[in-house]
Amino acid sequence: MPASSSDHATLVVAVDGPSGSGKSSVSRGVARRLGLRYLDTGSMYRAMAWWMTENGIDPADEDAVAAVCDRPDIAVGIDPEAPTIAVDGRDVSGPIRTREVTAVVSPVSAVRAVRDRLVALQREVIGSGGIVVEGRDIGTVVSPDAAVKIYLTARAEVRALRRAAEISADPVAETHRTLSEMRRRDAIDSKRDASPLVKADDAVEIDATDLTLEQVIDAVLDVVQARTAASR
Ligand code: C5P
Repeated sequence: MPASSSDHATLVVAVDGPSGSGKSSVSRGVARRLGLRYLDTGSMYRAMAWWMTENGIDPADEDAVAAVCDRPDIAVGIDPEAPTIAVDGRDVSGPIRTREVTAVVSPVSAVRAVRDRLVALQREVIGSGGIVVEGRDIGTVVSPDAAVKIYLTARAEVRALRRAAEISADPVAETHRTLSEMRRRDAIDSKRDASPLVKADDAVEIDATDLTLEQVIDAVLDVVQARTAASR
């Protein structure tokens, strides 16, 4: 029996994985297809890192970051067609994607006080469900009871090429630099003490290396159907 939209009213689809694995496009596509809300938790960590740099806080100074991380007002929009992110009322969707912010987001995200604050905000947004949530620790920490958990991966070179294509008109030349930056970020995200990037035991791993975006979305929708049918 196909799942009805009422099955999805409380559904949480957690999509975790390393940088550049295609989480955003896949999560937005799944949310669109199922009529669900969409939460990009990475944009919240980026917003926090952006605010630190704007206010002269050294992102590598854990104590300094922890001392002020409750100050910025971070508001995230949950429409998969047009996700938004604002800090203290200012739209920061452009500034949070710069190379400068990307370079400092992982050390800021590793600070426990930052995670405590943002995880609480994320749980508020998730509420009773009806949402696709992407990040690094959604299935393990933010929403451990999520009915559907996906761990999305792809070969590192493919991830780097995709990221490079997003930020440069000359993606091939950009790929080498992006690959080393991405490996550095993934290493910090995976080795930190506070909720590291790790596949949840009950997550379904999808390797997107040789799949198109539509194929990955379909694979996630198959998992949604199987899990919602099993819980009925
Ligand atoms: O997904 P995105 O690449 O925009 O995430 C930026 C950074 O935010 C990640 O490299 C990671 O350090 C941090 N992050 C996190 N936990 C999440 C989402 C993102 O630590 N749930």
